[in-house]
Amino acid sequence: MSFKQIKGQPKAVSALTTAIISRRLSHAYLFTGIDGIGKRTTALELAKAVNCTHPVAGDSCGTCQSCGKIEAGLHPDVRMIEPNEGANNIKIEQIREIKRWMRFRPNEGHYRVTIIPGYYPLTDEAANALLKTLEEPPQDNILVLTAVDRKKVLATIASRCQQIPFNPLSETLVAEFIAEKYKLDYDQARLSALMASGSLKWAGIFAKADFFRLREDFVALMSRQGRTELSRVFSLSKRLSQLKEDLNDFFYLMKLLYRDELILASDGASTGVTNFDHLEVLQELARDEPGLLIFDKLDRINRAERAILRNANRQLTLDTLLIRLLATPQ
Ligand SMILES: [Zn+2]
Repeated sequence: MSFKQIKGQPKAVSALTTAIISRRLSHAYLFTGIDGIGKRTTALELAKAVNCTHPVAGDSCGTCQSCGKIEAGLHPDVRMIEPNEGANNIKIEQIREIKRWMRFRPNEGHYRVTIIPGYYPLTDEAANALLKTLEEPPQDNILVLTAVDRKKVLATIASRCQQIPFNPLSETLVAEFIAEKYKLDYDQARLSALMASGSLKWAGIFAKADFFRLREDFVALMSRQGRTELSRVFSLSKRLSQLKEDLNDFFYLMKLLYRDELILASDGASTGVTNFDHLEVLQELARDEPGLLIFDKLDRINRAERAILRNANRQLTLDTLLIRLLATPQ
């Protein structure tokens, strides 16, 4: 793999290769853009390109020992910093450790590259410690932060980094990639791509077979015919509760369905509808249900999502939600 294989981000890649060729690398970068469009991969490619022993036009060769070690996660000068197991954020001790590490010259390569993907909420202490590093960057170091939104990054930190925006990928690009990777027919891949709004990561999640089956069952129960079958509602709720972290993605998928219903209810036209494969069911529902009721359903999904984040009983929360969404006679 090299910069050449990064999909759909020519501007970001060109900014980095130009900086490498002209030797004008920044000591800190902030890659911004939605999840699953290649920020983390590009950060690793940057680490490879600056440390490669046989670089070509600002890109790595992908075959030298340095490239191989970085790909295998074994290069002593390249580190990815994530929260410790069981923690939600990066702690001050981790930043202090990184600062000590950054003081030394690179072991094998030309640059030490530290990647903090996802800009996990840093504790205040950790953010301040990081800020000091950015104010007085040790030589031969490159720090790469990645974040969904620049506004989520502490302004004092963001202003000390060179920002490189990454754009959502085109629907066609995502669909082609997903179709090939998961061996899907093109319509299913296109649907996953549409639901994913240009994110390869989300498209990958939606393309999973069990996810598709759950979605089919949810839509079947949404339809007027499926409405009152309580035993099917409980059985679906049970399967959803077993989704673990994927449950959030399923909540998103539910919201997309009701969002489509809202679009259809407001102007009847199907432009902008994501779930094109269930247009008829959604149109029928949109005719039956007033907009306020659809809003209420969206609100209930949001509330259930928050409750589960706060450790509410998953099964009970899902049972209540699904009964409200699917089983209440209209
Ligand atoms: Zn190389």
